[in-house]
Amino acid sequence: MKGRALYLDGVSVVFDGFRALNNLSLIVEPGELRAVIGPNGAGKTTMMDVITGKTRPTAGTVRFGEADLTRLDEPAIATLGIGRKFQKPTVFDHLTVFENLELALKAPRGAIACVKWRLSGEARDRIARVTEEVGLLARAHDPAGILSHGQRQWLEIGMLLAQDPELLLVDEPVAGMTDAETERTAAMLVGIAGPRSVVVVEHDLEFVRALGRRVTVLHEGSVLSEGSIDHVQNDPRVIEVYLGR
Ligand code: ADP
Repeated sequence: MKGRALYLDGVSVVFDGFRALNNLSLIVEPGELRAVIGPNGAGKTTMMDVITGKTRPTAGTVRFGEADLTRLDEPAIATLGIGRKFQKPTVFDHLTVFENLELALKAPRGAIACVKWRLSGEARDRIARVTEEVGLLARAHDPAGILSHGQRQWLEIGMLLAQDPELLLVDEPVAGMTDAETERTAAMLVGIAGPRSVVVVEHDLEFVRALGRRVTVLHEGSVLSEGSIDHVQNDPRVIEVYLGR
């Protein structure tokens, strides 16, 4: 598999004396789909912020292939091909699914601005491929404003895919989704990974089980357990701190 691995090596983040990340080390291989779980306050958001350059680590290194991300700012990291989807979808309601994707395709990575362009045949083909990947072909010409919550989340994932990321960071994608939408989202992310790496932070353990990939459990800013969902769910340390049993 070509592509770059993501390395977090001994990463700590200290806010006013409080350690949000504590010597966190993690490797995500090229093309891997990794789920990250952990109780509230475990450091999941801070980990994503450190990867995208929103927060600078107090100690440790973050690398994407040969690139040292701790030396780059947010736009430079986005330009490298690291896309992030926040929990709340930000799509343009008055534009159709197709137009939203058109916008993302033409905008610089990390900076989607509301401008319209004429599209080449090649660009149209790419948008059609992305529309299919996120299951919205039948809705391509509907305004985003009339889509369901789940479909809006998928559209935003599509907008990130249109920018051809090498690593996609996805924050709690299934919060507020129906069971059917949650299941489709798991299948979608499995399909999206492979050519790209995906790191998904999620609370919903059934969703994480449906992904069927390696899971990292964070607790107090470090890795508590790592492995299959069965492995981590049966790990006594996880049961104690995460499941509260
Ligand atoms: P999670 O996403 O797993 O719920 P976070 O990464 O948001 O955890 O937070 C980890 C810890 O760091 C929490 O205790 C949180 O209160 C603290 N924290 C996060 N951001 C800041 C900040 N900017 N200033 C101070 N404390 C913060």
